[in-house]
Amino acid sequence: MKQTRDRSRLDNALAETLHVVPPAERSDDTGDLAAQIMNIMEQGVLVWSAEGRCELHNSRIYQVLEITADDLKIGTLRRSFRERALARGELTCETMRNSDSLFQARQPYSFDRVLPSGRVVLTHARPTRGGGYVVTFTDVTAERKAARELAEAKRVAEAAEVRAREVLAHERARQHEAKLLGQLDEWLQSCKSLDELYQIVRSFMLTLLPGSKGELYIYSNSRDVLDGTCNWNTRDLHNSIMADSCWGLRRGRSYEFRQGGLCFPCDHVTGHGHEVAVNEYICVPIVAHGDTVGLLHIRFDDTAPGAARIEDKGEFAIRCGEHISLAIANAKLRDELRDQSVRDPLTGLFNRRYFLDALRREIGLALRRNTTFGVIAFDADRFKEFNDNHGHDAGDMVLRAIGNRLQEMLVNGEVICRFGGEEFAVLLPEADLERTAAKAELICNTVAGTQVRYMEGQLPRVTVSAGVASFPISAGSVHDLLKRADEALYAAKEAGRNCVRMAGSG
Ligand code: GH3
Ligand code: MG
Ligand code: MG
Repeated sequence: MKQTRDRSRLDNALAETLHVVPPAERSDDTGDLAAQIMNIMEQGVLVWSAEGRCELHNSRIYQVLEITADDLKIGTLRRSFRERALARGELTCETMRNSDSLFQARQPYSFDRVLPSGRVVLTHARPTRGGGYVVTFTDVTAERKAARELAEAKRVAEAAEVRAREVLAHERARQHEAKLLGQLDEWLQSCKSLDELYQIVRSFMLTLLPGSKGELYIYSNSRDVLDGTCNWNTRDLHNSIMADSCWGLRRGRSYEFRQGGLCFPCDHVTGHGHEVAVNEYICVPIVAHGDTVGLLHIRFDDTAPGAARIEDKGEFAIRCGEHISLAIANAKLRDELRDQSVRDPLTGLFNRRYFLDALRREIGLALRRNTTFGVIAFDADRFKEFNDNHGHDAGDMVLRAIGNRLQEMLVNGEVICRFGGEEFAVLLPEADLERTAAKAELICNTVAGTQVRYMEGQLPRVTVSAGVASFPISAGSVHDLLKRADEALYAAKEAGRNCVRMAGSG
């Protein structure tokens, strides 16, 4: 009788769980078949009665849940079964609470339990019509592992994609920067003078590093200070700064001042040690051909919208500085070479070649404007004797002193050169013969009054004689003009020296 009742319960439960044919519609043998099916199933199956006792389970459940027949038998209380699972760590208190409340509410529920061996078992419970529950236990270790691996692979793939996008964006930015630097180089290389170059630096820096502010300093000829030569986006530009006021110049490499970093602001920025709020900046020494030529100072103010930030643009700023450095050094070198080719090394005055070019230019101008200009030829008097008496070095000192004196006496546009040996020449734009002669007189008097110190004492004064000619009245070509001035000079020598003679009309 009891056996029949058990079988009927089993049949009902199985009918719901496994969707087998309902008991009323089948013969008694079907129950045995259902029990056999249950036992060969992959899943563990367990039926709780409405009172929470084990009413039925298959034998597969022992393997799936890694338990023994002592842990679960017909009549085992659901509560004690679950408490053992809790003690083994297969369930959490929270899972217990949630599933219990769903159980009370006669709702289906499911959760994963992780067995001590690490296997994962999906517990799925559904209420039966009789007030109990049918629970299936499915080993989902492989599925969960595959899902985890899939999620991890997805995460790795997503991270790789993000990284690839970053690399691509970075590469694009680098290509853009390289293009801009190429354009900058092209402009810098076509500069004719340093002033033109500073203009280009100013305009380019405003575009290359938006919102940045900058100052450019170049070593003065005496090399004791650096002169402020150009700035952008700021009114700050010192007339001059000392080389040791910059960490970049002191250390001989680019210096980055960053907020919060272990770094100290340069004196040329703070104004010698005063505590002031300092923006982040970079100082790039302008070095070329092994020589420090100047300093490029770039300040970043990221409070302005769209302004370049030192984190993103610091390296690029240094590269800009390097390109500008090279261009400045080349322009300086070019200027120096050009200067060397037109200047006399002893006096620093222009040389004969430059003077002849200047005369040619002046003739063109005078013809176009229908104006006049004057030429003076000077020659030191009895200089051979002077050298013989005081030595060649003393003679050199006197030639330099005469050169300085002449230089000091020039006004805008007037050109002076050392024509060769102890001879000098002066070009006076827009001067007629009389005005030229007056200037020549003034120069003769000034030279005659010049005293030169040499060794411990003073050298005897040296005089000069001058011959004056003017365009177009004396002559109409460079060659003839110089010839007339030379003839006048010869006349001055003849007249006793230390005097001026004018050329006759040509
Ligand atoms: P004069 O009044 O007729 O011009 O007499 P002078 O002695 O000046 O003329 P001369 O042409 O006989 O001699 C020119 C002298 O100038 C000879 C040469 O030694 C000197 N001289 C030329 N170039 C230099 C130079 O670079 N340095 C020195 N110290 N002397 C020079
Ligand atoms: Mg001479
Ligand atoms: Mg002479």
